[in-house]
Amino acid sequence: MMEYLQQLSEAIGISGREEAVRKIVLEAIDGCVDEVHVDALGSITAIKRGTEGSKRPKVMVDAHMDEVGFMATGVDGDGLIKFVPVGGIDARIVPGMRVKVGPSGIQGVVLSTPIHKNKDSTVIQIANMRIDIGASNKEEANGKVKKGDRIAFDSRYRILNDSTICGKSLDDRAGCSVLIDVLRESSYPCDILAAFTVQEEIGLRGAMVAARRLKPDVGLALECTTAGDIPNPLADPDSDDPADLNPTCRVGRGPTLSFMDRSMIADPRLLRYLRQLADVYGVPYQLKTQLGGGTDAGSIHRANTGVPSAVISLPGRYIHSPHALISHSDYLNAVRLAQAFLENLTHDVLKPL
Ligand SMILES: [Zn+2]
Repeated sequence: MMEYLQQLSEAIGISGREEAVRKIVLEAIDGCVDEVHVDALGSITAIKRGTEGSKRPKVMVDAHMDEVGFMATGVDGDGLIKFVPVGGIDARIVPGMRVKVGPSGIQGVVLSTPIHKNKDSTVIQIANMRIDIGASNKEEANGKVKKGDRIAFDSRYRILNDSTICGKSLDDRAGCSVLIDVLRESSYPCDILAAFTVQEEIGLRGAMVAARRLKPDVGLALECTTAGDIPNPLADPDSDDPADLNPTCRVGRGPTLSFMDRSMIADPRLLRYLRQLADVYGVPYQLKTQLGGGTDAGSIHRANTGVPSAVISLPGRYIHSPHALISHSDYLNAVRLAQAFLENLTHDVLKPL
């Protein structure tokens, strides 16, 4: 269990350039699936045949391989790198960040203004930021960095105390790792149509294509979602009121089931089924009602003639930053819940309400 999570977290796979992650996943699932295919966009689709395949619904279980990051767009006169974001990144966390540029992982730092000079607190636009790779002029920088090079957070995977995992791109390498564990740990009655998708962070694109290929009866996305269990940074710092930004999802309280997000409404039959399973198997879970964000299930449920879909998410603090944080116990509970889903799913679950 979790054998590949560190490797997955530290691999660089900004949307559209997921090849390093794909390599790890292909190795990890080798021998525990019956068919593997890499599609035209680069998503991995794999079939693990069930022991009662024809009698059970076919389930597409999805996790996305890509992560947010940046792309180089040029070099300015001083040899500093211009760049744009790929996926959603808050400009406020970027100044001073350590990054790796291009396929050889050239180290760099995003410019930040020293506090001595930053007289006001204006947020600098990413378009006005630059990355310093230590080049002394434009020619030197141009020799090292090409337009279109991806730029990733430079961050190591760490275990904080015994229960907390910290690293970049746990959204959604944690989901990839859960899916790998589900495939490796057991066999199931239903056919599993596994999809490790590309380009989720820029519009759920890889899943759309993968779902058309796999033609599932049911979709299950494994994700890492924003945990809102941090104090409100806008609150009065002297107040004793520990007001949360969003108390609906907390790290360490179990995997999160979504009713609805920006991309989909969870199928009510599958949501009811997941909640019943969690109760029967004693898996703690949380319900997320916030509308923000989207998942690959947003693409899967609209594929073909429609695919009833649901999402199991790991609550993560500081996602889309170099140091996301998830709980070890949430991870294990997400694996258990996904396994229970696959072991027990019958066509009866999908009967009209
Ligand atoms: Zn994600």
